[in-house]
Amino acid sequence: MRRTQSSVTKFTNCLLIRGNELVEEDLWISSVSGKILNGQEILYGERVAPDRIVDLGGRILSPGLIDVQLNGAYGFDFSVIPEDGAVGYSKGVHRVNRQLIATGVTSYLPTLTSQPPEVYQQALPFLGPSGTHRNPTYGSESLGAHCEGPFLNPSKNGIHNTTVLQTASHGLPDLTACYGHSNLASMTKVTLAPELPGGLEAVKALTGLGIIVSVGHSEASYEEAREAVKAGAKMITHLFNAMEQLHHRNPGIFGLLGATSSSLASKPYFGIIADGIHLHPTSIKIAWNAHPEGLILVTDAMALAGMPDGTYDWTNGSRIIKSGSQLTLEENGRIAGSAAQLVDCLSNFLNWTHASVPEALKAVTETPAKMLGLEGVKGSLNEGADADLVVLDLQETGVGEEKKFIVEQVWKFGSKVFDREIEMAGDEN
Ligand SMILES: [Zn+2]
Repeated sequence: MRRTQSSVTKFTNCLLIRGNELVEEDLWISSVSGKILNGQEILYGERVAPDRIVDLGGRILSPGLIDVQLNGAYGFDFSVIPEDGAVGYSKGVHRVNRQLIATGVTSYLPTLTSQPPEVYQQALPFLGPSGTHRNPTYGSESLGAHCEGPFLNPSKNGIHNTTVLQTASHGLPDLTACYGHSNLASMTKVTLAPELPGGLEAVKALTGLGIIVSVGHSEASYEEAREAVKAGAKMITHLFNAMEQLHHRNPGIFGLLGATSSSLASKPYFGIIADGIHLHPTSIKIAWNAHPEGLILVTDAMALAGMPDGTYDWTNGSRIIKSGSQLTLEENGRIAGSAAQLVDCLSNFLNWTHASVPEALKAVTETPAKMLGLEGVKGSLNEGADADLVVLDLQETGVGEEKKFIVEQVWKFGSKVFDREIEMAGDEN
């Protein structure tokens, strides 16, 4: 491939994840193709020097982070259609994308909570995968919508409004009546409760359409959950939260992590909210030890992420109290999602499980990419993968042996879109 404009960047003096190791190695990328290049081939084969060399001062160069459960941020809620309708909604989505990328999240699944059909049908057209629109200035990229509901168990509704919950007793027609037939192409993942009437048929129908099914907000027994996985379900939504807990005679959904390969084709992936509020660190460690290759860190962050503390109106007349990264429903004190950033969940995970840095980073890069069927495209530093990158500094906090990841730079499709140093210099002016 001939390069006709200044396009090739070589990162040097950096640590890359290769397998379970952090290795000192250069990385070459192109802002024209937006992909990672084969540096050896360019240097020795084509004998071409890079257009730009970026010295990262020994810091970690990771694939960009992927969040598969984000409900909104910076005051915009993917589940709320603003008064000015499509115009305001579209603006809100673009604003979230541009701000979110500075947190190191280069791609994500915009997530809708349980809503009446008209909300899905107005929102979903704006949430589909970005596809061929590979423009770094747009910010973080949607990999398709995640519909968390409305086919959920009313007994495990969490903060979802029970009046909008449904069953898919008629299978696919119920699904299309709810989401809208033309919107199925915008959808990448659906969370549902497989034990409800029509639940298994819904799993099969969605899987047949190429939509990933995740089991959640469910009181499925171990056996029911196993049937869902056999029918095609690939993931468990926020493991431990909004489901039956492990019982020695009925291990419930959690039991899938202990299933042997003979009883199950493959163990499902599972989302973990490591915000310090939803789960005890030890619960996370148990899940991690049971099935490390399946663990995916998610924020489940709400529109209030990035906003000042206070009491805010939420959908359906409810109100949410925000205090730091903690969100609770005013009427009953239930946890109402989080206001955490994925990079902070990553630091927590590293500190709580004593996973290695490459293992921790996989939970926000390679593993979600595999779950989404995007192995080698996202969450990877291999040649041909999208050049979505985050430069991380791993700092000692001075509290015990606690460490903290800091997002120093973010690159999208081979172009730099965030630099903490420049941002901080800007703040001083
Ligand atoms: Zn949920």
